[in-house]
Amino acid sequence: MRVYFWGTRGSLPASITAETVRKKIVRALNAAKGRTFEDDGEIENFIDNELPFTVSKTYGSNTACIEIKNGDEYMICDAGTGLRDLGNHHMKLIEQGLQPRSGSIFHIFMSHFHWDHIQGFPFFTPAYIPGNQIRIYGYHKKLKNVFAKQQSQPYFPVPLTAMNADIQFVTLDLGKTAAIGGFEISGIEQKHPGVSYGFRFQKDGKSVVYSSDAEHKTKSESPARDESYPFLKFFKGVDLLIFDAQYDWNEAVLSKEDWGHSSYVAAVELSVKAKVKRLCLFHNEPTYTDDKLDALLEDTKNYLSVYNNRKPHPLVIDLAYDGQEIEV
Ligand SMILES: [Zn+2]
Ligand SMILES: [Zn+2]
Repeated sequence: MRVYFWGTRGSLPASITAETVRKKIVRALNAAKGRTFEDDGEIENFIDNELPFTVSKTYGSNTACIEIKNGDEYMICDAGTGLRDLGNHHMKLIEQGLQPRSGSIFHIFMSHFHWDHIQGFPFFTPAYIPGNQIRIYGYHKKLKNVFAKQQSQPYFPVPLTAMNADIQFVTLDLGKTAAIGGFEISGIEQKHPGVSYGFRFQKDGKSVVYSSDAEHKTKSESPARDESYPFLKFFKGVDLLIFDAQYDWNEAVLSKEDWGHSSYVAAVELSVKAKVKRLCLFHNEPTYTDDKLDALLEDTKNYLSVYNNRKPHPLVIDLAYDGQEIEV
């Protein structure tokens, strides 16, 4: 099973500016001072292996959309602007003869309907192709109303009814495990304005939890939290936990309490307790620069060490970026 990140920002897209690109080039040229490169291969090797991530790449721009790959049918979480890129990639595969012209099946699981989680759908080209099947799932009621409203005047010129794929909306039962696309899927209600839901996907003995837009207190804020905290069971032993860690600790605790998002501190504490194997921080704050996000990842690793009495811990930690792929 592989997980591909098409969009990792929270709240709204964050484009990279001309000034940011310029600064990256200055740093790259400084790092290359005195070096000579025989060919493009040596240059690319230098970029990939010697430049820091924040110089050679970027955490990215698109809002929430991930794909879980294991089978012929698309398994997607959320329809942020990353969904547009997923759709365009699918169209490229058709041009290359690697996907059929129509008849593809897309399962999209919706955490909730804040703009950053729905705004890619009107630009999702496969939804306009007759013969494709689009299934949109969630635990909220009236799923269809939300999508129809987004594509109504004066918000968008093309109505949902103009999308020619077979689009159906399915409200799932939170008390039951669903079998979809060869996966077993369960859900959990999360603390977030208007309520959001997390999803757990299992197949072939592997598991992934997508838990975006959820607020958890840190241990120091809620010392009474015990084994009955439902998320410990939901996250238990999961191979990959994709976790909303939008804020640094200061913001999460001091200025943005009750905004519906968590910090890396809660991410580490819950992951260790639930024996998560790999943690991926997600829903990146749009005002944070690449350097700030990189520092956040370092802080998270340092906090894991402190939390584990300065002993090494097997938990692997990533901070999600657009275009990242994780093998589970
Ligand atoms: Zn969000
Ligand atoms: Zn939200």
